[in-house]
Amino acid sequence: MFILIERVNWPAHVIASLALALLLSYFLQIPLSPVLFAIAILAGIAADVDYAESKAFKLFCAITFASVLVLARQFFSLQQQFANYAIPLAILSAFAAIGSVFLFKPKHRGITHSLFAALAFAAIIFALLNDWKLASIAFACYSTHLLLDLELKLT
Ligand SMILES: [Zn+2]
Repeated sequence: MFILIERVNWPAHVIASLALALLLSYFLQIPLSPVLFAIAILAGIAADVDYAESKAFKLFCAITFASVLVLARQFFSLQQQFANYAIPLAILSAFAAIGSVFLFKPKHRGITHSLFAALAFAAIIFALLNDWKLASIAFACYSTHLLLDLELKLT
């Protein structure tokens, strides 16, 4: 299993993830959108759900809340039966995501820093948005987090 210990540096993770997403969006010819940015930001920090310290944890929750909000709004807008309620449902989803963060946090330390987690994250994005380009970007950005942690660990 591909698991890494880390020293968290969130700005570095977010910047690297966004930079890669911008690059890939250019090559895959995807228009820039809030959904793309939300995926990149979430992919950049999601792995640290098992690591977040109390001070940084609030920021982690805020970023997660905002990203899930954008993604869920897009997801529900794509479903005809939910389209009219996309915003309230997105807000509920964002709260549910934060709730799961609290439930999930104490367990599974380490597993979020694996290629399996990167694949799972990409699969969720694909399941939500049915868009393989966005799912590929999700995988690539999540992997960036793993690589960055590895590099930080080696120095
Ligand atoms: Zn990490």
